[in-house]
Amino acid sequence: MSHINGKVVIITGASSGIGESTAKKLAGDGAKVVLAARREDRLEELKKEITNNGGEAIIQKTDVTSREQMQALADKTIEEYGQIDVIINNAGLMPLSFLNKLKIDEWDKMVDVNIKGVLYGIAGVLPHMEERKSGHIINVSSVAGHEIMPAGAVYCGTKFAVRAITEGLRKEMSPSTNIRATIISPGAVATELTNTITDEDVQEKLNNRGPKGLDPLDPEAIADAIYYAVGQPDSVSINEVLVRPTSQG
Ligand code: NDP
Repeated sequence: MSHINGKVVIITGASSGIGESTAKKLAGDGAKVVLAARREDRLEELKKEITNNGGEAIIQKTDVTSREQMQALADKTIEEYGQIDVIINNAGLMPLSFLNKLKIDEWDKMVDVNIKGVLYGIAGVLPHMEERKSGHIINVSSVAGHEIMPAGAVYCGTKFAVRAITEGLRKEMSPSTNIRATIISPGAVATELTNTITDEDVQEKLNNRGPKGLDPLDPEAIADAIYYAVGQPDSVSINEVLVRPTSQG
């Protein structure tokens, strides 16, 4: 029997890439998905596609850097569906840059979206999950949460933080409740994520990777990993899934 059918799943960053693909995959197996991001038009399109295929979805325009909006996302989900089974804190930014470029506004944004956004997501759902003694919090980190690369000091720092927060949550919650915490750590995936890079030296490096360069995964490969974690029975806790393209060193 599917452990996904009927689950209520919040997905942040659902307007593109990994979040969008995950929403389709879970809704295709009967999950009720709550689509959150800032670009409402993209969420509307996705909702239409899901419902046209017989799935169930609602949208909530949300900026994950706002505590109030993240609380409103949790509240809206409970109002519409009565419960929250899973939250996937997936929204993220990756404006890679060398530290000496002092792109301090971009550092701030990465900390706000990649770290605080995840924390606000946890804060929004945790009281509800504690009350039910059940729930699943899935946070998207990265291979960059395991390895540090030049131009990635701040981005990697945020993704290390996501792993630390998720594992801390698991240690605090799982032994005494049925609340599970999962880290998803993708390698390179073909999405819009590199669009936020403004450092020309980083852009040039990415453009000159050459024909033998990295062949990134399709976002479906990560949606499959998330599907695997969500699909387990309550007694099975997937702590981390790390997925690289075979061509990634
Ligand atoms: P995309 O750029 O395609 O998606 C990022 C999503 O985050 C968008 O839906 C965007 O929506 C959302 N987002 C950004 N800022 C905010 C915000 N302030 N509030 C709400 N939503 C926001 O990239 P990916 O799908 O690749 O990224 C998803 C996650 O995967 C990220 O956490 C990323 O770090 C991680 N990851 C990606 C890898 C890759 O190679 N692509 C590798 C490893 C990890 P909107 O702009 O509409 O708000």
